[in-house]
Amino acid sequence: MRDRIQKIEQQIRDAAEKAGRNAQEIRLVAVSKIKPASMVKEAIIAGQTLFGENYIQEAVAKVEEIGGDEAQWHFIGHLQSKKSKYAVGVFDLIHSVDSLKLATEIDKQAAKKGVVQNILIQVNTSGEESKSGTTDETVIALIREVAALKHIAVKGLMTMPAFFDDPEGARPYFRQLRLIKERINALAIDGVEMRELSMGMSGDFEVAIEEGATLVRVGTAIFGARDYTV
Ligand SMILES: *Cc1c(COP(=O)(O)O)cnc(C)c1O
Repeated sequence: MRDRIQKIEQQIRDAAEKAGRNAQEIRLVAVSKIKPASMVKEAIIAGQTLFGENYIQEAVAKVEEIGGDEAQWHFIGHLQSKKSKYAVGVFDLIHSVDSLKLATEIDKQAAKKGVVQNILIQVNTSGEESKSGTTDETVIALIREVAALKHIAVKGLMTMPAFFDDPEGARPYFRQLRLIKERINALAIDGVEMRELSMGMSGDFEVAIEEGATLVRVGTAIFGARDYTV
């Protein structure tokens, strides 16, 4: 575990250097979905402190077992509005907000708990119908609406392009997300501070870093293949 994490950290530094970026701007989100809490604990011992989870019930159980002091938790999976009450205040960042309906519910739950919930807006850059995310055309309108919600802080954007055997295949979509971020920042919308770009997984995080990723979500390369996909 320690070797795998150190190898990825090294790859992150190398990719950052290649792109002329500061590696300190890039955080590794260890995606522990479907993997047991015991493996997360191993990763913590190996020095990893930031974890990403996809399935709300599993995630909440794992966070309860391991605790929020030992590690930081991000929610990266699809979130149904009616489940948002379980995520708000538990996760430091929700990567996957893709509709006003979901944002409004998160805002309501955050107000109830007296917190401001950090979120990213998920953009479906590759335009597949099966993928969640707002589109290139609708993202700015959505962000303007979400910016008006008082208990939400928009921190950036997330994307998950289609799978490519060659990681270069994902590059245009990563680049597109960076350009959307730049466009939004140029609009200087009140309450919106776009810093984070969550993009890149085990197979393509180096390309994502070259295109500006600040959060890379790596599961398989740390924890091994998952037994099943949900
Ligand atoms: C599972 C998952 C990952 C990690 O994928 P790997 O290929 O195992 O690194 C990253 N992001 C999201 C949204 C995921 O669901």
